[in-house]
Amino acid sequence: MSILVLGGAGYIGSHMVDRLIEKGEEKVVVVDNLVTGHRAAVHPDATFYEGDLADQDFMRKVFTENPDVDAVIHFAAYSLVAESMEKPLKYFDNNTAGMVKLLEVMNEFDVKYIVFSSTAATYGIPDEIPIKETTPQRPINPYGESKLMMETIMKWSDQAYGIKFVPLRYFNVAGAKPDGSIGEDHGPETHLLPIILQVAQGVREKIMIFGDDYNTPDGTNVRDYVHPFDLADAHLLAVNYLRAGNESAAFNLGSSTGFSNLQILEATRKVTGKEIPAELADRRPGDPDTLIASSEKAREVLGWKPEFDDIEKIIASAWAWHSSHPNGYNDR
Ligand code: UDP
Repeated sequence: MSILVLGGAGYIGSHMVDRLIEKGEEKVVVVDNLVTGHRAAVHPDATFYEGDLADQDFMRKVFTENPDVDAVIHFAAYSLVAESMEKPLKYFDNNTAGMVKLLEVMNEFDVKYIVFSSTAATYGIPDEIPIKETTPQRPINPYGESKLMMETIMKWSDQAYGIKFVPLRYFNVAGAKPDGSIGEDHGPETHLLPIILQVAQGVREKIMIFGDDYNTPDGTNVRDYVHPFDLADAHLLAVNYLRAGNESAAFNLGSSTGFSNLQILEATRKVTGKEIPAELADRRPGDPDTLIASSEKAREVLGWKPEFDDIEKIIASAWAWHSSHPNGYNDR
């Protein structure tokens, strides 16, 4: 039995592959089209195929050459809210239609388990905090909608073809492998912590904080941060949960603790010892006040225990990557 990681050259996927290999998984197969991923992020011990998961002949070759693959972990999706508002069809094509193409080939090859990245963005403006898996999912942007559609497609594929699935609904992912060898490198970068760290490095002049009039204690958005190694562990637990014959189920993955954007800025100043100039700016469209996960279900059912339960530890790991790679993987 081996695992196929789709998007294994990306930010979270590269941490997944690293963790699988560190935990002694004998063979890890990686597929990535390198559109947003980086060749240098692919673990040297992984079996790597460059190509697109929507290319069914390519995927047939991958499954034919690796008949021991019984489970797929799928990270290969676009994930920027603002871009999805401008280019919704790009999201429905790559994320949603891509999933249909993938499931057709998985079904052909009788691969019955898939664990995939879903998102807190499927909840839209949540009805309750902390957000539970049963909180109604009403996305307010095409990104969240594309992921909810992937969940729905899988629900019916489970019923018709018996393909069992676990959507993991992540909250805000931050941090890197603590030795600084792999990390987050998006072009262009839009996420809060990497941008704050680029200011700390002197690569950017200042951080703009989007909005200070939200209904939160200090007026800035509150988010729940989770480390990619903790996410990776949850994916492996979910694969083993499916391999044990359990039914498909969704899980939220977060730390269950919220930090405001200003708290993240202060904590980063403390960890880096840098001044980090900041300026208040207008709200960014589509940002809910507060997103905090209830991850009770993942802890109880999967036995998930996040190791990076301290925001300063998460920030320090991200700083290890950014301070040693001022230009990221530098392969663009
Ligand atoms: N944010 C900000 N300045 C930036 C980038 C992000 O104030 O330059 C805020 C953003 O408005 C949100 C939080 O940081 O409140 C987290 O945003 P990010 O894009 O990192 O993740 P998202 O929540 O969109 O997944």
